[in-house]
Parts: sequence; C-alpha cells; structure tokens
Amino acid sequence: MKARISTEWLSGCSGCHVAVVDLHEKLLNLVEDVEFVRIPVLVDEKGYPEADIGIVEGAVRSEHDRHCLLKMRESCKKLVAFGTCAVYGGPSGIGWLYDKDTILDKIYKETVTSQKDGAMPEGAPVLEQSVTPIDEVVDIDFYIPGCPPHPYFIALAVKTLLGASVPEMSTKTVCSACQRKMEKREGVKLQKGMSSGTEDDVCLLSQGVICLGSVTLDRCQAQCPNKGVACAGCAGPSLDLITEPHLDIRTLIAKRMSLLTGIDRQEIIDYIEKEAKTFYSYALSSPSIYKKPTVEMREWAGK
Ligand code: SF4
Ligand code: SF4
Ligand code: SF4
Repeated sequence: MKARISTEWLSGCSGCHVAVVDLHEKLLNLVEDVEFVRIPVLVDEKGYPEADIGIVEGAVRSEHDRHCLLKMRESCKKLVAFGTCAVYGGPSGIGWLYDKDTILDKIYKETVTSQKDGAMPEGAPVLEQSVTPIDEVVDIDFYIPGCPPHPYFIALAVKTLLGASVPEMSTKTVCSACQRKMEKREGVKLQKGMSSGTEDDVCLLSQGVICLGSVTLDRCQAQCPNKGVACAGCAGPSLDLITEPHLDIRTLIAKRMSLLTGIDRQEIIDYIEKEAKTFYSYALSSPSIYKKPTVEMREWAGK
C-alpha cells in the first residue's frame, strides 16, 4: 500500500514547499510507493484527507493557521515540523517584536495600496498576538529545520518515518562540514556589515567576519561558508544552545572570535546586540531563544 503524505502551508514563504516539489522524483526513487494526498503548492485541496505523514511548513501567525494545524494533527499519523519557520518561527518570527494591530495597520492602512477610507479590507487575516512555532500548539514527531530544508535531510526524515533503517541525524554544527580552517590571527578588525572574507580557506571568524556556523545545527552541509558567504543561522540554534539556558549566540561567538583574533569581546557583543534582528532572525520567536535569561531581544531591538 502506498504511504500517504499530506502537506500544509501556514505562515511561511512557500520555499519549503518548493523544496518538496524539487525533491519529488528523488523521493519516489528513495521511497517507493509514496503518494501525495494533499500538497497545496500543486493541487487545490481544501480538505484534510487521512495520511501517514503530515508535513507542515510555516509558523502559527493567524487563527486560520492554528485551525489548519489542528486539522493536520487530527488527520496525520506522524507530523513533521518542516523548515525553520515551523520549528522556530523562522523569519516570520520578527512579528514577535511587534503587536498585531501595529502590523495590520502597517500593511493594510499605511501603504500606497491601502483603502482610501483607511478601513481594514474584508478578508484581512485575523492575526494572533504573536508568532508561534508549531510544537507550541500540537505534538510533533519529527523536526527538519532549514530554510528551506536540504533534500538530503528531507529524504532521511521520510525514510525514518516510514520505518526504514537509517543512520541517526547529525547533531553537529555547520563548522563540522565547513572546509575553512580556524586560525589565530593578529591585528584583525571586526568587519561590520560584511558576510564574506578575502581568504577562501580561512574561517570567517578568523577574518573578523561574523559567521554563525559554530552556533547553528548542520542541516545543510555548510553550503554558505563553503561557497564564500558567512552562515546566517538559517537551520536554527545548535543543540547546546537549545539545551543549555546560560549559553547564547552572542557570547559564544564573541568568545570564539576574540580568542581567534584578539578583537575585544565586548565590541563583538555590542555589535551582535545592535544587529540582533539579523543575527537572531531565524529563531526570534522560539522560547528556546527568547526565554533565555541572558537574551533581551526586545530591549536590543529597541522595542
Ligand atoms: S523556513 Fe525558510 S523557506 Fe521555509 S517557509 Fe520559512 S522562510 Fe520560507
Ligand atoms: S565559523 Fe563559519 S567559517 Fe568558521 S569554520 Fe565555522 S562555519 Fe566555517
Ligand atoms: S550555512 Fe548557515 S545560513 Fe547557510 S544554509 Fe547552512 S545553516 Fe543556513
């Protein structure tokens, strides 16, 4: 019998669904007898047919999102939080810094396309007060962070959920797959606003460029630093950050970079706090980050 897969798209950018579509043929090669019974990016299906595996993209931002997520939980035997928005809130999590009326007014009343009478248009979404990762609402069986998830990990997850024997998921950081070498340097300055360096084989931290590889779970085989760009943390925090309340992105990066370059730790910390919306952007609305006693996200962001 074919394994039935159902997908849903909450508040996200659709990039995760595109990743599934990209994988489609590979998925069929890897796991024979898979059938998509619901996949909104390809087929207009309003109902929630029963499925063996449910794949959910996006965070809960609206009442409609919550309703759809509950329907997915009811109709699917196993549910996957698919992509960083579903797992940690993702870029949508920036909404955690603002109240919902401010956001609605900005979008529907204060833009050039707003209605002339300043009224909220019919059909405007009913937002919840904040952005919520989906495991705060329903039980989740499997997490695949990534923005979007890498095909290798999607296939691995589906095979695992269908009962195939597969190796355990890596719990290492992006650095583990990065080909650059960490080196001690002298006279390096903090490269504010930069996401690349001048040397291709040297760790970006050693070059004074903030790279979040050492505080990010490897779910991408270090795609960015291996191609010349600093890791922006799109796969979400590394496991030590999630499990240890006292550890934080800015202090870990500052300590490591300072040891490598001699740049003053406080200068690095101040810079990361000033640019917190960038450096924390993928997990802003996750309790694993905002509940940390050392994180003052709203204060850093001037909210
Ligand atoms: S995780 Fe990234 S690709 Fe997926 S929906 Fe969110 S923003 Fe889009
Ligand atoms: S910090 Fe970035 S550049 Fe340095 S080793 Fe880790 S992933 Fe590579
Ligand atoms: S290197 Fe970092 S930003 Fe790039 S895909 Fe991997 S986790 Fe995302």
